Amino acid sequence: MGRRKSQNHPAATTTTGDDQSLNQHQQQPTKIRFKVDGEEGEVDGGGGGGGQEDATASSNLDEVMCDPDESTTVADMTVDASASASASASASEAHDSFPDDGDDHQTSADYYFDSYSHFGTVLEMLKDIVRTKTYQNVIYQNKFLFKNKVVLDVGAGTGILSLFCAKAGAQHVYAIECSQMADTAKEIVESNGFSNVITVLKGKVEEIDLPVAKVDIIISEWMGYFLLFENMLNTVLYARDKWLVNGGVVLPDKASLYLTAIEDAEYKDDKIEFWNNVYGFDMSCIKKQAMMEPLVDTVDQNQLVTQCQLLKTMDISKMGPGDASFTAPFKLVAERDDYIHALVAYFDVSFTKCHKLTGFSTGPRSRATHWKQTVLYLEDVLTICEGEALVGSMTVAPNKKNPRDVDIKVKYSLNGRRCSVSRIQYYKMR
Ligand code: SAH
Repeated sequence: MGRRKSQNHPAATTTTGDDQSLNQHQQQPTKIRFKVDGEEGEVDGGGGGGGQEDATASSNLDEVMCDPDESTTVADMTVDASASASASASASEAHDSFPDDGDDHQTSADYYFDSYSHFGTVLEMLKDIVRTKTYQNVIYQNKFLFKNKVVLDVGAGTGILSLFCAKAGAQHVYAIECSQMADTAKEIVESNGFSNVITVLKGKVEEIDLPVAKVDIIISEWMGYFLLFENMLNTVLYARDKWLVNGGVVLPDKASLYLTAIEDAEYKDDKIEFWNNVYGFDMSCIKKQAMMEPLVDTVDQNQLVTQCQLLKTMDISKMGPGDASFTAPFKLVAERDDYIHALVAYFDVSFTKCHKLTGFSTGPRSRATHWKQTVLYLEDVLTICEGEALVGSMTVAPNKKNPRDVDIKVKYSLNGRRCSVSRIQYYKMR
């Protein structure tokens, strides 16, 4: 998962590749860079980059609509009853020309709270080939794990993982999904002829009655941005403790979080310094908020200045819910002389119970996934020389009020030839 935030940058396009095992493919540079003034080309979505200039004749307002000589006066707006009747007739005609919604009573308000019900969210996940193909390979290439086993799919979505498991020979699959997508999953299971093997259960994992006491395997795609955003890991641990048979298998069973540092002057200017002068006004109070919110985006591997540091590995088959809160030290050694504008976090997951170790990484040197990377901008621009180390620690914990949000505290210091700094910064993923 990890897809609730709407992102303004489309994910990199990916191509099919069979072996996704700990993929280290060359990542395509995917950042959309806004062109500087005077250059033509890429669209900037209207708000980015060039906000400091005065409006010019390039305004996109429809001139006919705002021509004062042409505008409708109040007198013109007076209509007689017949005109109004025909207007409402044509309104109902317009209504009638839309097909019946059938059972679809979802409104945008529902989608706001239940984004997983929307096919767009599901599409993004399914089209993430690194993600979906890895699960498919794990299941199809390790049928010995599934043969005649009872499987629990935690957060089934469309039921794709359940379908893979059923095809791999599972005796029965229970697919729990709390969003409206559960109804769609039932339909998909039926139309693919798996109703006798897959039972879709609509509801929250924490509230549902499972028709069996124990399961042999728990499979789930629970990972959020920064691995822990949305805190679905807790749901998997809950299911594990309640239903997994002694010696049962959790897929995936390992997840690790990493940290590195990047040069990112252009983007920091574009996303953070932008607020210093917005059409001539000081909006730097927003800058503070922007600094506090980690940015989910793809990072070009050429921006990497330091080595990567493993922060934490979680063993999903053994850990307790409290283990998702931790403080981990880091030492990021510079591989070249450069500036550092931000830290970058990413994760990998692995399935160690397979014949051959399988998994995927969401790092900047790997093929892009919809999780991208998580960028944490630093207050200071650090100047670092090759061989010097940015040292510190990162503390990660679910937010106390809203456990789906993640609080992050970063302590860092650099004592280098060009730069000496020590600071604590707080961030919140929400
Ligand atoms: N397994 C699917 C969907 C993964 S997204 C796939 O791989 O494509 C995670 C799904 O878990 C979402 O559809 C979300 O609605 C569901 N989910 C999250 N928390 C849940 C909970 N506590 N109980 C049931 N479903 C949950």
